Amino acid sequence: MTTTKNSGKLLVFLLPHIQNSATILIMEWNLYGHQWAADILQKHISNDSIRHAYLFSGAPGIGRRSLAIKFAQAINCIQPPTAGTPCGICRICKQTVSLQQPDLSIVQVEEDKHEIRIEQIREIQRSLSLSPYEAKYRIALLLNFHLANPNAQNALLKTLEEAPAKVILLLTADAAENLLPTITSRSEILRLRPVAITEMIPILQTKWNLDPQSAKEIAHLSSGRYGLAQAYIFNPEQLELIHDRLMDQVELFKMNLPDRFQYIEKLTATRRRGEVKETIQQIIQIWLLFWRDALLLNSGDSARITYTQFSSISQQISTCLSLEQINAFIKKLEETLTLLENNINIRLLLEELMIEWPALHLAY
Ligand SMILES: [Zn+2]
Repeated sequence: MTTTKNSGKLLVFLLPHIQNSATILIMEWNLYGHQWAADILQKHISNDSIRHAYLFSGAPGIGRRSLAIKFAQAINCIQPPTAGTPCGICRICKQTVSLQQPDLSIVQVEEDKHEIRIEQIREIQRSLSLSPYEAKYRIALLLNFHLANPNAQNALLKTLEEAPAKVILLLTADAAENLLPTITSRSEILRLRPVAITEMIPILQTKWNLDPQSAKEIAHLSSGRYGLAQAYIFNPEQLELIHDRLMDQVELFKMNLPDRFQYIEKLTATRRRGEVKETIQQIIQIWLLFWRDALLLNSGDSARITYTQFSSISQQISTCLSLEQINAFIKKLEETLTLLENNINIRLLLEELMIEWPALHLAY
C-alpha cells in the first residue's frame, strides 16, 4: 500500500503507481488520456442527464471501446464510490467488462462478415424494447458502427428517434463523418484524440514498468493511442512482426532486381489470394509509416516519427532523397494499396513496385 500526499489531502491507494493528481482523476475510470471525456460522462450520470446515444469516435486503438465500457459500468454500477464513477468490483461492473451482463447487448461485425447487417439491429431492438432485467438501464454497445451498411444504420435510426426511457446506445466509429448525419445529430459525440507522445512515455513507464527506451519506442509506435500501446505490450509478437517487415525493407534498398523479385515470390507463393492480400496490406501499411517518418525528418520533425528504432535509416533516406522523391514513393505505395483492392495480379503489382524501389546503400 502506498500513501501519497497530494493537493493538501492525504490520499491512500492500493496501487503503488499513482503519483499525481491528473492521474488520480483518471484513475477513477482507470483510463489514460481521455480525462475530459470521462469528466463529461461522469457529470451526465451525476446530474441525471444521460443522453439516449453517445458516439465515441477516433482512430482504432485510441480507447473508444474501453471508454464506452467504462461508461456502461458507471451507468449501471451498484455501489459507485462517487456519483458517476464505476467501482469496477461489483457484480454488474465485472459482468459489464467481460461483456456478459444481461442488460448489455453487443453489436459488431460477425466473424467471416465485413459489415454490420440489418438483422443484427432488429435483434437488439427486440431486447431493447423490454424493461431492464436487473440493471438501471439497458445498454447497447455498437462497435465500429461505421462498418454498418446503410440499411442497418437506417434501422438503428428508428431506435434513436423513439428511444425507450431506460435504453442507452453507445456507438464507436473511426469518424463521425462515416455515419449517417441523422444518427450523429441524435448522438452526443466524443471525439477522442491521441495522447501527446511526450505525455505517454512516463505513463507507460509507471503503469507497465517499461524502461525509458521501450516506453519511448512504444509511445511512438502507437502514435499516442493508449489502447494500441497496450496491445503492443501484451502482444510483443506484433512488435517482432513490425521489426521483421522493416528489416525486409532495409534489405530491399540494397538488393538487385532479381533478388527483389525473389522476395516477392516468397511472399506471394502457395497461399490463398485473400491471405496474401491481407499480408501485403499489412506490410505496405508498415512501410508507409516508415516513409512518413522520412518525410517528417526531411522537414526536421523528429518528435512525431513512428519507428524510433529505425530512425537512423529514415534519417539517411530523408537526406539521400529529395522531398519530391519521398512524396512520389509514398504515392506509389498508396496506389499499390488501392490497387490491391481490385482483382489484380498481386505478384505483378508488387514487381512493379520493386522496379520503382530506390536503390540506396544505407548504413545500419
Ligand atoms: Zn460497480
